[in-house]
Amino acid sequence: MIYNDFSLSIVVPMYNEGDNVTVFYDKITDVLQSNGYNYEIICVNDGSKDDTMERLRILATRDRRVKVINLSRNFGKEIAMSAGLKYSKSDIVIPIDADLQDPPEVIPTLIEKWKEGYDVVYATRLKREGETWLKKITAHSFYRVIGKMTRFEIPADTGDFRLMNRQVVEAINQLPEQHRFMKGLFSWVGFKQTSISYYREPRFAGKSSFNYWKLWNFAIEGITSFSFAPLQIATYLGLLIALLSLIYAFYLVIVTVTLGNSVPGYPSLMVAILFFGGVQLITLGIIGEYIGRIYNESKKRPLYLVKEELNIDNESQITRLKISR
Ligand code: UDP
Ligand code: MG
Repeated sequence: MIYNDFSLSIVVPMYNEGDNVTVFYDKITDVLQSNGYNYEIICVNDGSKDDTMERLRILATRDRRVKVINLSRNFGKEIAMSAGLKYSKSDIVIPIDADLQDPPEVIPTLIEKWKEGYDVVYATRLKREGETWLKKITAHSFYRVIGKMTRFEIPADTGDFRLMNRQVVEAINQLPEQHRFMKGLFSWVGFKQTSISYYREPRFAGKSSFNYWKLWNFAIEGITSFSFAPLQIATYLGLLIALLSLIYAFYLVIVTVTLGNSVPGYPSLMVAILFFGGVQLITLGIIGEYIGRIYNESKKRPLYLVKEELNIDNESQITRLKISR
């Protein structure tokens, strides 16, 4: 067996993954063991309504390296993942989806890159199998838009599947926000990052819990978490409209002076009223998006509540070794 002097935590958020748990475990364990890694698999059950927890319980009794955190309800993938990162103790941490869309075979490649001296190695999707063209187009445009809005780069076509060293994980664990757009936070912390490419597989079983409404909200979360450009839109829109109104007023003066006033203008009046009504509501809505988030942050509730832990000791099972490459 190959000797590895580092420890590895795999973090897996799981929501209704009952049909995937065992296959996922078998596949990933195969990869981890055949490479001789010193690992733990932290499974976060995010309030699943199916038999995910029961299956995890069975795995946890069979294998001490499977650690289970059972959240008190569904908190969403971002928070489930944050919980897993908080529990991880290893030198390197890799979050991965339970549905086998992120192939475990890529893990050794991530680790090879890390050994070259990178702090973060993210995996960029080359092809998305089993996803509609609409999802591909919306995902693509989202990355472009958010890329324009932020000062740091959020890599396109990159999910949460990546390798992070302890320093990066500690940095992320320190971020207190409730609204956790993880892809953004992963980039925001900085450090030396690089990427590798992989083919994203279709889901093994079950279906994606992200519908278009959820994805839209996810996009808003991403944008509001990292940019206040939308708030500034109101200013520029206001300036533009004011300028146009001045030009129009000037035009009206000329027309009245030269042709007299015949009191037309009902349609233009209606259009102006409706237009301004719309613009004002939209900008109010944008302000609302931010105020709602300020409100949520100000409550300072805990990020998640844990109902039960399996195979979790105060001292981690796996010995923490000094990072040496
Ligand atoms: N997930 C979660 N909580 C949720 C929704 C999803 O922990 O509320 C997990 C899910 O079990 C999976 C990962 O997040 O391991 C990705 O979810 P999904 O496959 O539904 O998303 P997609 O691959 O379509 O982006
Ligand atoms: Mg998936």
